[in-house]
Amino acid sequence: MLNKIFGAWKFLSDTLIYIIFPPFCPICQEIVDERGDICSACIEKIMRQDFFSTPPAQIEKVLRLTKYRDGTRGLLRKLKFDNNLKVLPTLKKILEIASTDSKVKEILKGVDVAVFVPLHEERLNRRGYNQTELIFSDWLTAQGVRAENFLRRTKKTPRLFNLTPAERRETLKDAFEVVEGADVAGKKILIVDDIYTTGATVTECAKSLKKMHAAQIYVLALASDFGSN
Ligand SMILES: [Zn+2]
Repeated sequence: MLNKIFGAWKFLSDTLIYIIFPPFCPICQEIVDERGDICSACIEKIMRQDFFSTPPAQIEKVLRLTKYRDGTRGLLRKLKFDNNLKVLPTLKKILEIASTDSKVKEILKGVDVAVFVPLHEERLNRRGYNQTELIFSDWLTAQGVRAENFLRRTKKTPRLFNLTPAERRETLKDAFEVVEGADVAGKKILIVDDIYTTGATVTECAKSLKKMHAAQIYVLALASDFGSN
């Protein structure tokens, strides 16, 4: 009897909350079924799982999952610059959707270990988390890919978004190193980052890993603008 009353009360309160505070798509603000959901129109608009046609010299393949411009830019900015963790369920939902894609399966199947692009310690302390690790960590485990913090950012760099490709390369030169004892020799390594822009960051990461005899480097980015986006 008590169970029934509780069940009815819960149903009523859930319904009321749904009516007063309906869940909405965090991209276009349309009402959706559940919190964290993205509407089907936005999924169609932002999901773009494709390989970069000309990956940097050190890297075998670069795969992105979503478009950045007119895509996941707003969500990533909230996570990185506003410390807004409420966007995390949506970003994780995006990964869940991407899991079924054949290119995603292909790149994950071919690697031994994943590494996150690290933040400099000072930035990590200020933000409180590495956003890439926060987005991808559980998902990689669920996909059967081991993730390790094998890289360390040794150089403090300014924000890169307003630098030219040449300035980015110069700024990021020797900015990363492989941590002591990391088992990378002979391994196929997946570098995971939130945004892929000119490839300067992952190229420097790849150089450090290759210096320690990593066999092959792949890149997975949550968002990027390729070609005509
Ligand atoms: Zn939407």
